[in-house]
Amino acid sequence: MNFDIDKIRNDFPILKETIYNKPLVYLDNAATTQKPQVVLDKLMEVYTKYNANIHRGVHFMSNKATTETETARKIIQQFLDAPNSHEVIFTRGATEGINLVAQSFGEQFVHPGDEIIVSEMEHHSNLVPWQLMAEKRGATLKKWPFTQAGELELPVLEKLISNKTRIIAVTHVSNSLGTINSVKEIIEIAHKRNVPVLIDGAQAVQHLAVDVQKLDCDFYVFSGHKIYGPTGIGVVYGKEQWLNQMPPYQGGGEMIESVSFEKTTFNQLPYKFEAGTPNYVDTIALAEAIKYVNELGIENIAAYESELLIYGQTKLLTIPGLEIIGNAWNKASVISFNLKGLHPFDVGTILDKMGIAVRTGTHCTEPVMQHFGIPGTVRASFAFYNTKQEIDELYKGLLKVVELFK
Ligand code: PMP
Repeated sequence: MNFDIDKIRNDFPILKETIYNKPLVYLDNAATTQKPQVVLDKLMEVYTKYNANIHRGVHFMSNKATTETETARKIIQQFLDAPNSHEVIFTRGATEGINLVAQSFGEQFVHPGDEIIVSEMEHHSNLVPWQLMAEKRGATLKKWPFTQAGELELPVLEKLISNKTRIIAVTHVSNSLGTINSVKEIIEIAHKRNVPVLIDGAQAVQHLAVDVQKLDCDFYVFSGHKIYGPTGIGVVYGKEQWLNQMPPYQGGGEMIESVSFEKTTFNQLPYKFEAGTPNYVDTIALAEAIKYVNELGIENIAAYESELLIYGQTKLLTIPGLEIIGNAWNKASVISFNLKGLHPFDVGTILDKMGIAVRTGTHCTEPVMQHFGIPGTVRASFAFYNTKQEIDELYKGLLKVVELFK
């Protein structure tokens, strides 16, 4: 693997931190990722060299910030292989992106008696916005259940789709089970019935190559902070044909073409959906994060993380009483597990004292926990800067936890 892990780790200043005098072992990457120096530098550069509100200015700094923002949009367009840069809309994150689509699409296309299909493994961010919209529009939410292994079955979806189905929302990668869903096949099935699909890519873009044209998805959303970029910035890709028909999500500056007290006309894409001063600083820094990922190569990242996953799963399964929740054949580098008789919170708290950061709880997927009848899981999620040695630390930590509670 042409992957210089020492150099990579050096790019992320936070990885040198110690927690309770122990070297940080950061295995909570599905919650948020750490930032390379180039991203931190970019934030500083914008604020110290050309911070000015974009799109409206005639002065140098405003023009520079505007150009950088629009260049960022193009970088993200290329990253997703979106046909047009105006199909890339900036939001606060994946959550806001899904709310935007649910509300706006719902207002235009969903009517009383219609149906929306959402899978059982969705993050609350890809469930609650659809519930809210369904209630508002008098529509019904239909659950696409997953199997005990944590997989979504395509024949089940085929049966769920009816002539009342208006949209399907499904995650590309599950944040609590690690499952990589067959989104291309899902979209093919949906499109045969003329149903559009929103893909929640919050856990996917940082792990695998995404090509929205090959997938032919109608909407794709993700968050910057999970792909080594800043918090407070996210992306919605939407097909022009849909976005042009959808009403604005929020009103305000920038999203208008002309305003009078009698009538307002709206700006063209993507600005129609970007009301108010956009988060241009984090947008510019997000593009820097994407460039960093591109330089490493998403295929290289996927291969390395897959090695970590296999190593981690094999090692953890040797721990007495450890059960992995989520055993799909195709998984991203996420391991959710429980230790027999122990509450995930206790496991996480003890690991923390060893400098090991994992997440515990429901991971904002309560229906997943209800499916398995468990209060939650411990989740270790790996990024390309993690190492097998860190997994060894997790393993040793868990053995100590088991010993402690014997
Ligand atoms: N979807 C999935 C699958 C996620 O894992 C997350 C974040 N945990 C979200 C959506 C929401 O992302 P954000 O909180 O950044 O908006």
